[in-house]
Parts: sequence; structure tokens; C-alpha cells
Amino acid sequence: MDFSPSDKTREYASRLQAFMDKEILPAESIYHRQRHELAQAGQPHGRPAVIEELKVKAKALGLWNLFLPHYGHGLSVSDYATLAEITGWSPEIAPEVINCAAPDTGNMELLDMFGSAEQKSQWLEPLLEGRIRSGFAMTEPDVASSDARNIKTSMIKDGDHYIINGTKWWTTGALDSRCEILIVMGKSDPDADDHRQQSMILVPINTPGVKVIRNLTVFGYVDQHGHAEITFTDVRVPASNLLGAQGEGFALAQARLGPGRIHHCMRAIGMAERALSLMIQRSLVRSPFGKELAQQGVVQQWIAQGRIDIEQARLLVLKAAWMIDTVGAKAARKEIAAIKVAVPAMAERIIDNAIQSFGGAGVSQDTPLAAMYAGIRTLRIVDGPDEVHLRDIARLEIKPYLS
Ligand SMILES: Cc1cc2nc3c(=O)[nH]c(=O)nc-3n(C[C@H](O)[C@H](O)[C@H](O)COP(=O)(O)OP(=O)(O)OC[C@H]3O[C@@H](n4cnc5c(N)ncnc54)[C@H](O)[C@@H]3O)c2cc1C
Repeated sequence: MDFSPSDKTREYASRLQAFMDKEILPAESIYHRQRHELAQAGQPHGRPAVIEELKVKAKALGLWNLFLPHYGHGLSVSDYATLAEITGWSPEIAPEVINCAAPDTGNMELLDMFGSAEQKSQWLEPLLEGRIRSGFAMTEPDVASSDARNIKTSMIKDGDHYIINGTKWWTTGALDSRCEILIVMGKSDPDADDHRQQSMILVPINTPGVKVIRNLTVFGYVDQHGHAEITFTDVRVPASNLLGAQGEGFALAQARLGPGRIHHCMRAIGMAERALSLMIQRSLVRSPFGKELAQQGVVQQWIAQGRIDIEQARLLVLKAAWMIDTVGAKAARKEIAAIKVAVPAMAERIIDNAIQSFGGAGVSQDTPLAAMYAGIRTLRIVDGPDEVHLRDIARLEIKPYLS
């Protein structure tokens, strides 16, 4: 294993870092002001103009769709991992500005891998161009959705159409006015084997019977793209909207998550790096009881332990990314599960210590730490809660001991 970045990655990373320093980080205060103004005007999910301006600049710099290996730049999952970390320094802005934001990334990967030519031209192309956005509707309020076999939304074949009925929630992105397409996971074959009962289908959000009920907040935060609760009442879509084959929904859901977890985890490492940096800067300028925080043993431990934890976590993620590139996501299952548990917990600890080092300012809107904390806490639930990944790892560890 050689984790030194390739020449190509280095070149992209330096271009991206320069863009972050010159454009993205200085735009954060503008973004928050514009979001506040939009909310005051009754548009909590309105589009801040600064994002659109930055997108034009990112595209012109070739910093666009970097997550998709064969998009033209030829970056591998490992190559992109390094870039995703850089965007994690500004998680609300940077991933979207370079068209590498969830859930669009996972949805584009699904369309790329399993979409028909027609589905690609209708939905993948505009997503790649950043003209529209998308949602992924799997989780349901009424069942334990961390076990995807539980989902109840029905998808019944009726001639050359499917009819969908059910309720989804936490469909990220669905409140953005540009969201045009949902990938909905439903139960198409209730009598089949457990893992063959589900299918995925493309549902244009304006299809009659699709109703966005409300937004769900995250620790009180209203995310710009929103997390929607959506009801589907006798929603009729052509059978040609099926993604992959009927009964393949579970397999598609698995395929969607491998690289996505690398992206999430590397961004989390970027967040942890920023939190550590803020903690160090703060501890050099605050002196309670006549001594700089940076000279306090406890703060030095937070800093040192933070550095150790980040380095360990990054190596583990790079190993998982390297395995996806070399042997595939299936063979890297244990490593992918491990990073999904280890990295958010690590970043959460560092952000928590950084908040503590800032005192009251740490939980206010004056630093990015409070929002980062809320975001990272959700990552221990999103894309499978910790306990599910731990269960998978334990099973894989125990298996060889069973005769
Ligand atoms: C910010 C955010 C964005 C999201 N975006 C999307 C999205 O775009 N699309 C989408 O479909 N979903 C999305 N989700 C939903 C998310 O994927 C689910 O919340 C997650 O899969 C857990 O499902 P659940 O909420 O039904 O929890 P449940 O399945 O009810 O589980 C509850 C808890 O049970 C525990 N548990 C589960 N299994 C085990 C076990 N084997 N052993 C011990 N304990 C266990 C865990 O602690 C778990 O947190 C999002 C969630 C959040 C918070």
C-alpha cells in the first residue's frame, strides 16, 4: 500500500486548496447572511446566490464532479478521498459548489451504474451539469429503516406502470426547488426472499400523488436542501423508470454506499482538521487564570490526541479507499464499516473539545463548530447507525471461527 497522493491528485488538491482559501472560506459569512435573508423572506430552503456564483468559478477551474472516476479527470476513489477531505473544511458550501454533494453523488453513481440510456440522458446528464438536484427516499417513519428489509412502501406493477403508496422521511434534498427526481425504494415483491423484495424506481417529484409534508430539522438547524417527509399516494410511474431490475433494490442500495462512505468520512476528517486548527488558534489567545490555554496540560492532551486520532482515521479511510479501487467495495466491506464507525466518533470528539476550548463562543453562531457538531452527530446515524456496522464487523470477525 502506498498512500502518497499521485501527481494528478497533488495537482487537483493544490488547485482545490487555492479555491478553498480564495473563494470558499471567505464566502461562508456571505452564505450565512444570504440564508438568513432568504429565511426572513419565508424561503428557508431558498438558494443563496453566492453558491451559484461559486459553481460557475469551480466549473471554469475544472473542479467539478471529481467524485466520479470516469468523468474525464480519471480520479480513483483514493485520489478523490484526498480532495473530499479538503472540502470537509467547509461542509455546507464546498461539496455542493464542486457538484460533489450527497445525496446527488450517490444518486449519480446509481444512475451511472444501473441507469438505462434514456434514464441517463433524462436525469444523469442534468445532475452532472448541476442543473437539477435529486433525493434518495428509502427511510420510513413507521419502520426501523436501518434494516432496509423492513420498508413498507408498496410498489405494485400495473401493466406498464408501477403504483407507489407509502410515506418516506429524511429524504435529503427534496425541499430544494431544483430537486426534480427522487429515487424511491419500495416493496415490489413481498413474497420473494428477504433481500429480493425491494426495487428502486425513479419518481419525478412533480408526479401527481407525491406530497412533501414537512422539513425535519437537525438539532433545530434548517438545512438548505432540507430533509423531507413525503407521502406517496397512488403515484403512477412508467415501468421504464425502474432502476436496475425488479427485486434488485437491496443490491443497488449496497452498491450506492461504498464510495459514499469514503466521501463522508474524508469530509469528516476535514472537519476534524479544521476544528483542531481552531482549537489551537483559540488556545493561543485565551488565558484564563493567568495562563494560555495552550499551556494547560488538558488542552495539550486534546490537541495531541486529536492529531493522533486524525492520522489513524485517515490511514484507515485511505486503506478502505485503496481496497475499493483494487478489490472492490464488496471485498472492502469490513473496512468500509470500520471507517463509518471510527471516523464520525473521532471527529465528534475533536469538535467537542474544540467547542469546549472556545467556551460560550463554541456553541454560538460565531464559529463553525456548533453546526459541525450537529452535522457530525448525524453521521453516526446516516447511512446506517454505528450499531449496524459494528454488528457487520463482528459477524465477519466471528465467521472464520465457525466450523
Ligand atoms: C441528517 C440525516 C439525513 C438523512 N438522509 C437520508 C436520505 O437522504 N435518504 C434516506 O432514505 N434516509 C436518510 N436518513 C435516514 C437514515 O439513513 C436513517 O435514520 C438510518 O438508516 C436509521 O434508520 P431509522 O432512523 O429508521 O432508525 P432505526 O432503524 O429505528 O434504528 C434506531 C436505532 O436502533 C439501533 N440499532 C439498529 N440496529 C441495531 C442493532 N443491530 N443492534 C443494536 N442496535 C441497533 C441504532 O442505535 C439505531 O440508531 C437521514 C438521516 C439523517 C439524520
